[in-house]
Amino acid sequence: MTTIEHLRAKLPFPLKRLADLAYNYWWSWTDDRVSLFRNIDPDKWQESKHNPVELIDSTSYVRLTQLANDPVYIKRLKVLAQQFDNYMASTDTWASSVAPQITAKNPVAYFCAEFGIHESLPIYSGGLGILAGDHLKSSSDLGVPMVAIGLLYRQGYFHQKLNRQGWQEDYYIDNPFERMPIELVKNDRGEALTVEMEIRQRRVKVQVWVVRVGRVNLYLLDTNRDDNDAVDRWLTGHLYGGNLDTRIAQEVLLGIGGVRVLKALGIEPAVHHLNEGHAAFGTLEVARLEIERTGKSFYDIEASVRDRCAFTTHTPVPAGHDVFSSDLMDSYFAHYWPTLGLSREQFLALGARRLGDPWEPFGMTVLALRMCRAANGVSKLHGEVSRKMWKILYPEQPEDKVPIGHITNGVHARTWTAPLMADLYSEYLGEDWSTRVSDPQMWAKLDGVPNEELWWRHQVLKERLIAHTRSKVKAARSDRSEEQYRIDAADRLLDPKILTIGFARRFSLYKRADLIVRDAQRALEIFGNSQRPVQIVFAGKAHPQDEEGKRLIQRVMDWCKHPNLIDRVALIEDYNIYTAQKLIQGVDVWLNNPRRPLEASGTSGQKVCFNGGINFSVLDGWWCEGYQVGADGKGSNGWAIGEDANTSDQELQDRIDSQSLYRLLEEEIVPLYYDRDENGIPHRWIEMMKASIKTNAPLFNTDRMIADYVTQIYAPGTAASAVPVRASALV
Ligand SMILES: *Cc1c(COP(=O)(O)O)cnc(C)c1O
Repeated sequence: MTTIEHLRAKLPFPLKRLADLAYNYWWSWTDDRVSLFRNIDPDKWQESKHNPVELIDSTSYVRLTQLANDPVYIKRLKVLAQQFDNYMASTDTWASSVAPQITAKNPVAYFCAEFGIHESLPIYSGGLGILAGDHLKSSSDLGVPMVAIGLLYRQGYFHQKLNRQGWQEDYYIDNPFERMPIELVKNDRGEALTVEMEIRQRRVKVQVWVVRVGRVNLYLLDTNRDDNDAVDRWLTGHLYGGNLDTRIAQEVLLGIGGVRVLKALGIEPAVHHLNEGHAAFGTLEVARLEIERTGKSFYDIEASVRDRCAFTTHTPVPAGHDVFSSDLMDSYFAHYWPTLGLSREQFLALGARRLGDPWEPFGMTVLALRMCRAANGVSKLHGEVSRKMWKILYPEQPEDKVPIGHITNGVHARTWTAPLMADLYSEYLGEDWSTRVSDPQMWAKLDGVPNEELWWRHQVLKERLIAHTRSKVKAARSDRSEEQYRIDAADRLLDPKILTIGFARRFSLYKRADLIVRDAQRALEIFGNSQRPVQIVFAGKAHPQDEEGKRLIQRVMDWCKHPNLIDRVALIEDYNIYTAQKLIQGVDVWLNNPRRPLEASGTSGQKVCFNGGINFSVLDGWWCEGYQVGADGKGSNGWAIGEDANTSDQELQDRIDSQSLYRLLEEEIVPLYYDRDENGIPHRWIEMMKASIKTNAPLFNTDRMIADYVTQIYAPGTAASAVPVRASALV
């Protein structure tokens, strides 16, 4: 097992600080980013999947001593290590002045089933995890005392490969824990700190790993110990794998186990923030501890538990919320409800939506709403949808008084802004631009950036995306033994001079990845146009059990093979944070066309804005708030597909939206892109790029989002005015 001491011992004297940097993901959002590590050995950096611990551990003594003799390298390391020390030690942070009540002893405890911090820590699947990662990074930057709780999945989320028929094949790989930037948490005796739980009528011992994300410690629970039953060792095997039984077991572990771990660590959270309902069982454990401490009854302490819990919902459809049958609940909780002093009926009522329905399953969102003093959706529209969906719990309230608010999602600017753009912002907006991202006046200074300057940087980023796409597609074709000419053709894929659209997200029906090929002939004329062509890069996985999603991928793969589109359409396999970065930093246009209102927020389009890309999206999620119309009635900072048209007839809606999509491409987007001056600079396009950055960046970033969470949710005295129907009233 590699540890920080092990790495330090291996490194020659002037390089020792590399070990501290390798074990804190802070490095991944500094100005320097990867270059200090990549310089050690670019090939090994690739092989290690950008994992600095593995990189250093596998670097030869010869190479390390070479670097240790390089004064330029040593100087760079010294500067970065100094920045790191200053960052970790600073006390006059934003949060210390705004919310001094939140302290290291009483921090925010943030619970989530997945965390997307970096591609070298693959314990995320998509949007929820990336949001959680960005949440921790901005909290750290703003100095919000926070710890986070998640699970350390042995094999993470599944990986995707496409076969020659374009069909998705799923597989898992072992995460190389022993060489990841994680450390086992030990007790006073130097042994692994563990907590015990009863799951499926067996004792399970849970150990804990810590990942450092700037100032935030992320604690990851792990059951893979040799003193656990072989079955239980796989409790933390896969993220969103398995069936409902695995699901409930993991949620018991995350919620109840998570609260036990916090107690074992001596942390008494001021607020437990449940990011999505997966961790909602944790509120019961908070209650159990309170009962144990005070000797009072559940109903007496219920309000004090509510006071310490907050909930963010992410799902705009009823079917997306986890519910468990009473049989499953019995098998997991029959030993537990007596410890709360509750009967079976009283206990099950905590997750029931209504009175007297014995078949009502146990809902995690219902439990969370009952047990949390604050609840929010993740965009304005999603807030409205959530109030409507959960009004049933608040029969006394008119819909607009249902106490579910909204805080619109954002992205961590320092993670998602390409270094080349960050450098431009430093020059024109000020060296401190990245600490003032919510200030619209600062962004207004973009007007002073010469168009040529913004354009060449954007074009270079596009070339980087194209290079990445070619190498991924080439490797995939070779892996599935395609003909040599097809493999070689990957070197000619895409062209930096052509208008480039990006589309990347989970392939599921409601996201309509095939909307753009609905009218195949019209699409062909747009993409295959010889004067003003268009190209598109797709990426994304379909959930292993989602056959429809897999068929969508197959359709797109078929489309890639059309003779007129051979160089114009590409799909990158196995979407992850790294590919996402390349995509959102390199595209001209970001396409998003979900069925309204099924996208709670979406964040990819926000990442695009920080890099000068322009959104082309259905007015759903965050884009409802971001999209602006100019005096000419057209979009001034992007485009809206299907405008406000809304029908419950899906077929009709798809037709309206696809026609709008084609019309906008043909009449607005393509002509604007190819309108060039004598030097080939598209000035009107670049004005739109600037508008995209200026209007969106100050709003849709996680510094603004965390400030909202701190002032509206975390700060004491922000209790909701209405309480849902008490569970006690149901029995
Ligand atoms: C940002 C991001 C997402 C979120 O996608 P949306 O469709 O915008 O919600 C998913 N996966 C990865 C890898 C990302 O970086």
